[in-house]
Amino acid sequence: TFHKSKGQHILKNPLLVDAIVQKAGIKPTDTILEIGPGTGNLTKKLLEAGKMVIAVELDPRMVLELQRRFQGTPFSNRLKVIQGDVLKTDLPYFDICVANIPYQISSPLTFKLLFHQPAFRCAIIMFQREFAMRLVAQPGDNLYCRLSVNTQFYARVSHLLKVGKNNFRPPPKVDSSVVRIEPRKPRPEVNHKEWDGFIRICFIRKNKTLGSIFKQKNVLSLLEKNYKTLQALQGSQNVSLSGNDDMEIARLGDESMEMDDGMDDDMDMECDEAEGEGEVSEFKNKVISVLKEGKFEEQRASKLSQESFLTLLSMFNKAGIHFS
Ligand code: SAM
Repeated sequence: TFHKSKGQHILKNPLLVDAIVQKAGIKPTDTILEIGPGTGNLTKKLLEAGKMVIAVELDPRMVLELQRRFQGTPFSNRLKVIQGDVLKTDLPYFDICVANIPYQISSPLTFKLLFHQPAFRCAIIMFQREFAMRLVAQPGDNLYCRLSVNTQFYARVSHLLKVGKNNFRPPPKVDSSVVRIEPRKPRPEVNHKEWDGFIRICFIRKNKTLGSIFKQKNVLSLLEKNYKTLQALQGSQNVSLSGNDDMEIARLGDESMEMDDGMDDDMDMECDEAEGEGEVSEFKNKVISVLKEGKFEEQRASKLSQESFLTLLSMFNKAGIHFS
């Protein structure tokens, strides 16, 4: 019996398992990380192709089954099974990651891998089709969202295979896709919280103009708060006031992008623009003038490239406006 809650859908098509292993480009010297090995159909082929397989599996019954399957075979001393939740496990060194994962951990796992050090060569992962299409979406595509921008900032992502439901037992409700994720080397040198805080705001409503998003009261007051906090911090560096270390920089939404599935981009948010409320603040003018200077006022996040986002962020930063 399989546990639905653990996303247990076993790959039953051996041709597909072969195709995944072949696409991974495994070298005989590779240490491979497998996430959610289940009964070990993929694990076996990985052991044939590489030097070492480290498999992280949540379900103790599956761990037992896996160990039993390879016990007494030449594979057994090249397989290391870690029982536990991959999201809570300190990952060891690996060259390549291959996984047919439970779809509920897609987003946090993707970010765990993107931030893993030292960077691995590539990850070949089965995702729910829609999630995969979000990962690879380009500016202007319907599914282009915060998840696309953030992932592609840290990695090159490509779609490898479309996989129908019937390749699994039991079949899941949705179609799947295999995706390749190759971390960029060297890693982009940007403060991740700053970058994520900025992208989060741009995508509050991805089809609204940046001009109207950055005129929203909640956005302006958040940015102004950050601005004042930073000024106070800078001012106090000479005076060395105690207690300033604890000052919190505000961000929009919840703390961890990592736990977010990025699926909420079209969600309706309150858009209370501060316009027409009498006095226009000096700070608002500052923000708007940055947008105008870079010709970003009429642009929309849904159509902006990585480079444009980076340009705008660095213009904001130059003006002393920060997002983390
Ligand atoms: N790799 C096998 C295959 O392709 O046939 C099984 C894939 S099945 C979609 C997902 C596997 O991940 C299950 O064996 C499940 O027990 C395991 N799993 C679920 N949540 C997990 C987690 N948080 N950490 C590690 N493994 C997990």
